[in-house]
Amino acid sequence: MNDPRFIYTFDEGDADNRMLLGGKGAGLCAMTQMGLDVPPGFVITTEACIKYFECRRLPESLMGAVRTQIGAIERKTGKGFGSETNPLLISVRSGSAMSMPGMMDTILNLGLNPSSLKGLARATDNPRFAYDAWRRFIQLFGKIALGIDEALFDAAMVAIKRQYGIAQDVDLTAEQLRELSERFLAIVLEQTGAAFPSDPYEQLERSIEAVFRSWNGKRAVDYRRQFRISKEMANGTAVNIVAMVFGNMGADSATGVGFTRNPETGENAIYGEYLTNAQGEDVVAGIRTPKPIADMADEMPGLYRQLIELRGRLEARYKEVQDFEFTIEKGRLYCLQTRNGKMNTRAMVRTSVEMLAEGLLSKEHALLRIAPTQLEQLLVPTLDPKHKAEPLARGLPASPGAASGRIVFDADTAEQRRKAGEKVVLVREETKPEDIHGFFAAQAILTSRGGKTSHAAVVARGMGKPCVSGCDAIRIDVRERHAEVGNMTLHEGDLITVDGTTGCVYLDQMSMVEPEFFPELKTLLSWADELAQLKVYANADTPTDAALALQYGAKGIGLCRTERMFNDPQRLPIVQEMILADSPEARRAAVERLLPMQREDFKSIFKAMAGLPVTVRLLDPPMHEFLPTVSQLEFEISHLRHLRRATRSVAELPDTLRLLDPELPRVYVDILGRLQEGLVRYHQTQRDDALLARGEAMLKKVHQLVEVNPMLGHRGVRLGITYPEIYEMQIRAVLEAAAYCIKEGITTHPEIMVPQVCDAEELRRIKSLADAIKEDVATRQGVEVHFKFGSMVEVVRACLRAGSLAELAEFFSFGTNDLTQATFSFSREDAENKFLPLYVQSGILAQNPFEVLDVEGVGQLMRFAIGWGREKRPDLVVGICGEHGGEPESIRFCQYAGLDYVSCSAPRIPAARLAAAQAKLREKQYHDS
Ligand code: ADP
Ligand code: MG
Ligand code: MG
Repeated sequence: MNDPRFIYTFDEGDADNRMLLGGKGAGLCAMTQMGLDVPPGFVITTEACIKYFECRRLPESLMGAVRTQIGAIERKTGKGFGSETNPLLISVRSGSAMSMPGMMDTILNLGLNPSSLKGLARATDNPRFAYDAWRRFIQLFGKIALGIDEALFDAAMVAIKRQYGIAQDVDLTAEQLRELSERFLAIVLEQTGAAFPSDPYEQLERSIEAVFRSWNGKRAVDYRRQFRISKEMANGTAVNIVAMVFGNMGADSATGVGFTRNPETGENAIYGEYLTNAQGEDVVAGIRTPKPIADMADEMPGLYRQLIELRGRLEARYKEVQDFEFTIEKGRLYCLQTRNGKMNTRAMVRTSVEMLAEGLLSKEHALLRIAPTQLEQLLVPTLDPKHKAEPLARGLPASPGAASGRIVFDADTAEQRRKAGEKVVLVREETKPEDIHGFFAAQAILTSRGGKTSHAAVVARGMGKPCVSGCDAIRIDVRERHAEVGNMTLHEGDLITVDGTTGCVYLDQMSMVEPEFFPELKTLLSWADELAQLKVYANADTPTDAALALQYGAKGIGLCRTERMFNDPQRLPIVQEMILADSPEARRAAVERLLPMQREDFKSIFKAMAGLPVTVRLLDPPMHEFLPTVSQLEFEISHLRHLRRATRSVAELPDTLRLLDPELPRVYVDILGRLQEGLVRYHQTQRDDALLARGEAMLKKVHQLVEVNPMLGHRGVRLGITYPEIYEMQIRAVLEAAAYCIKEGITTHPEIMVPQVCDAEELRRIKSLADAIKEDVATRQGVEVHFKFGSMVEVVRACLRAGSLAELAEFFSFGTNDLTQATFSFSREDAENKFLPLYVQSGILAQNPFEVLDVEGVGQLMRFAIGWGREKRPDLVVGICGEHGGEPESIRFCQYAGLDYVSCSAPRIPAARLAAAQAKLREKQYHDS
């Protein structure tokens, strides 16, 4: 049976079939077929590579076909493979479907042996060049095909340079290079027990095998794992055989690399470097300093014009910025490689906008070519990319951007030092909701535990502050107020820099570059909004958040969490009073003091978001989150008691002293008198009594509130039902604020959202409460306030009862953080700190479901809920407000599942807007899992 076809010449190969020909091979075919000057050659397919691994040898027919094709190259070039008059040299180059820069091997100058070497020296009239090519070939072939340790060759090179007192490789003479190549040949003999193969076809066969083998080399395998390149994305490497061209044949020869546009700025101008009289590797190896391509305009004007033309033709073909390799041999320009240029995000955005204007790209294409997550990095200050500092430690890149500040180990200290005008970084093992004031005060957050969706990470992202989490190299000792990294000790007040984009932590302050919402980005995102179907709302809790959300292009607030307002240091004592209250009346009194504050919050948020919907979620977290912990309280109480005892001892001190020595009290009369006087005065204020009583009451309450599983306990609507005063106050605050806005002529669209609902009856009770308040507000304020009423859907039972919930709810908002926990029956913190990494690594789960929505499970529940909900209420509005609302893959599912909006934290909004447009554009390709 015949083997399938394993070889395609550059004239024949299907330039769009990168899977078969690899990226480099497909590019060489494309350029050849466009009529560009590519040295003749052919591609051995990735299928041959797979076959090689199956059979552990080259497919039988392969070398025969290779000989035929080498024959064709000989005819085209007029040279002979192994010829001693005019030898053909070739390169054997790897190249898979996905670019894996530097991971696999390329052998140059193949075909040299003692006789073709003479031919090369004669044909080029340049023995030095010939010997240099020869020793490089022995070196590369020896290392790649024969597996010889390259250090041996390097040592021989160092030895010969020392022997002749030469500093640079380029200063070696032809004779010295000849001597060096002899030594290289001796190394080969010594290491392999055989002479260097002189038959060019044997060289070629062994090189092809070596390139195939490099596909499964450790470097390449690790790289694919790291960048998640699956078998489906790239299966095996192709081998490209290309006739050598030489850029080192004099002043009319050169070699270089180019970008069709500037990859740093996106500017529409050719960009790159070249070297005259040099070979490809010299540019990369940095042996000589290359010149900017612009210099070519003077040095080789004709060739420069050809390069400019080449640039235009490549872009017209690929509709993408290209990164290409070229070599000029005696005035003739050859293209050796082209691929899509890797650019920074800013350049991607600018080229999208400009290439559309030039007619190269459609709007769809301009939007699709940028990965949404890249945009996140654009809008935060980042480390100056030119820095050279070594990181102190590495953790997870949990919230992008970088910031410097002084280390503080707790939220209170953060607040104090910030008030004193210092910039601080909050460094903790992990953070809790009560640390929130520390987040506000800090420039950045660093935790030694927790994943990318830990409390610290989520809150930091919400605020757009840099965060590195799970940095376990740092051991924090809060009591001693220091932290250890390796053998170094960091103290409170030491300066560090946290880079949440990379997860690196550095000592000292580092220089930063500021983010910008530049014009091209605005244009691109306006196109995204035009094409998208999903609206992008913001999770925003304060007027400042709302302003930021608007600036980032939010079309509303999808989640306004009221607990953030309660955590304000001025309000917390009142909230605690409300919790400590023993009777509904006492609770109402506390709640009444909170009402005007909440009303003011809502007023300013409504004003900021004039005309846009604002979804207010009624209080959600369990009460104990607003109270200190048991151990904190016990600590305080024991201190107060101790103080009391100490006071008593001071009062008794004169008597005690007199026992020791009757004279003593007189000696100390002054100090003792003042001390006692002070204590008596202090005692009269009864501050310690009051504090002690309050502490003890609080401790009692905290004990009462203790729950085995607070997140599954007394929270959300369950609180609203048991303590109606709280929800009543919140609803009143919303509606009165709206009434105020209406009177001021400001349009508002308040929406009231109930958290943790599991049954329609819960909704019914809150709804009738809200309706009654609405009536009351109408009577007192004389204006009718319209509001939408809806339910968070984050409890599994709510999904299953979605039909009946939709009878009361005008909208659903999926709280996918809680819903994911509930669906998996594991908590985020426990999962991420324990088994989840292994689950993902070993492939039980494809992704962390707290980062990327679990479409198969949670998504399935959502689709049921949406279906049943819309059956009862066809115009039911559906959104998502969990962390997933800002994550592109999850957004793609949301489009597919028919959601109306996604809501995410402000810094993620630009990425979400782009992702929403892409989700719409790629809707048809969405495959159900
Ligand atoms: P990589 O993928 O690491 O860039 P390449 O296969 O592109 O490896 O080759 C390495 C270097 O050798 C590049 O500078 C390339 O331009 C040069 N090169 C490869 N083949 C030839 C050839 N046939 N003639 C001249 N230079 C070549
Ligand atoms: Mg290359
Ligand atoms: Mg929730």
